[in-house]
Amino acid sequence: MHSPSQRPILIAGGGPVGFITALALARQGLPVQVFEAESRINDMPRAATTHAATLAMLAGLGMVDEVIERGYVEPLFRIWDRPSKTIVAEFDFGLLKDETPYPFAVQCEQHKLAGMAVDRLKAFPHAKLEFSTRVTSLKQSDDGVEIEVEGADGKRKVAGSYLIGCDGGRSTVRKALGIEFEGYTHPERFMILTTTENLGAQYPGCTRNYISDPDSWFSLFKVSGDERGPLWRVLSSTRPEQTDDELMNPEATEQRLQRFLPKSTPYDIVHRNLYNVHQRVAASFRKGRVFLAGDAAHVNNPLGGLGLNFGIHDAVEITTLLGKVIRREAPDSVLDEYDLQRRPLNIEFVQQQTIANKKRMEEKDPAARAKDFDQLRRTCADPEAHRAYVRKASLLESVKRRAAVAA
Ligand SMILES: Cc1cc2nc3c(=O)[nH]c(=O)nc-3n(C[C@H](O)[C@H](O)[C@H](O)COP(=O)(O)OP(=O)(O)OC[C@H]3O[C@@H](n4cnc5c(N)ncnc54)[C@H](O)[C@@H]3O)c2cc1C
Repeated sequence: MHSPSQRPILIAGGGPVGFITALALARQGLPVQVFEAESRINDMPRAATTHAATLAMLAGLGMVDEVIERGYVEPLFRIWDRPSKTIVAEFDFGLLKDETPYPFAVQCEQHKLAGMAVDRLKAFPHAKLEFSTRVTSLKQSDDGVEIEVEGADGKRKVAGSYLIGCDGGRSTVRKALGIEFEGYTHPERFMILTTTENLGAQYPGCTRNYISDPDSWFSLFKVSGDERGPLWRVLSSTRPEQTDDELMNPEATEQRLQRFLPKSTPYDIVHRNLYNVHQRVAASFRKGRVFLAGDAAHVNNPLGGLGLNFGIHDAVEITTLLGKVIRREAPDSVLDEYDLQRRPLNIEFVQQQTIANKKRMEEKDPAARAKDFDQLRRTCADPEAHRAYVRKASLLESVKRRAAVAA
């Protein structure tokens, strides 16, 4: 347990990664203070897919039962060829039933995960959360950090033992540390349209579908939704020259959905969102007593549903290492492991997979498409190759790799 005089570990950003990081620290008895710039949890549609490896970590934080109960369990995902409307490959996480208690993905929206972490944090008097408070700058010394925060009452300084930047892709913490965000941003944006219509009627049997098309790909997911019932999301790409007005007006979004999934009546569209698409990794995940986690450390396209999953793995890793150092079970030098391990794992498991997934969805060269599809069919048909594929897609392989280094 912490001593009352121990300075808190400070967390910039109350997205899902920030709050889950705080929970993982609070459960170890460590004092923690989270600052979130917005007045409440952001509930815009972003991550929904939670994979097996992450579910195991959420079990360790006492969250998994609620995630499964409030989410939507799906063991399968399918890759389709849109021109022929045929299934190229159906992958089954169920093949991992001997390797994980969670041989499936759970579609549970990220604002629900963040909310579940906040609810649990309320039980810990040594965890403090401040909304509407932005971290604006930081300083560090050999034995502590000091940040400046700005809220309704103006600016003030807060001292802490460490700082974890969980403040998203535009991270103030990363910029204050002068750490490069290496990689690239695609010229096109992705659009997500969310509807109450049961789109599964046109693609029955699986609620996670990637529909590859050289001209106009899309992907189709069911999420557990809210009081309106389950919701379906359609993710697609836009052209770089298209403006927000052109893309977001109700007529354009209706036409977009009708093009992908024609039906005789208009769609009930409950959310329209445009997102920039990046593949970037921070040049370092740590400087001194300051760490980066989640989107502050790495961003990627959403095909495969990996970004937040990996961010939650960051949260578990850094909080485990900090716990050991603070309790003097390990020397300070173990903190080096964070950047040494997480950064290459992100490149290999998140960047490479999501880049390949995007390429597959939009490939224009018929020969390259045919080759990729043949490979997918062979992988699916061979039980060992199939298992290896879903082990990687669920991030279980990246966790195994990390455990092998630690052993
Ligand atoms: C369309 C889409 C679909 C996706 N689907 C998936 C998926 O299925 N599975 C998956 O794993 N990932 C998915 N992702 C990625 C996922 O949404 C992100 O990885 C996730 O949001 C990262 O969480 P985070 O807490 O690191 O950052 P964020 O969610 O960006 O939260 C950062 C928080 O920090 C706050 N903040 C920013 N600056 C400051 C500051 N200076 N001071 C205080 N607070 C600050 C922000 O207000 C925000 O609340 C998807 C992304 C998109 C766009």
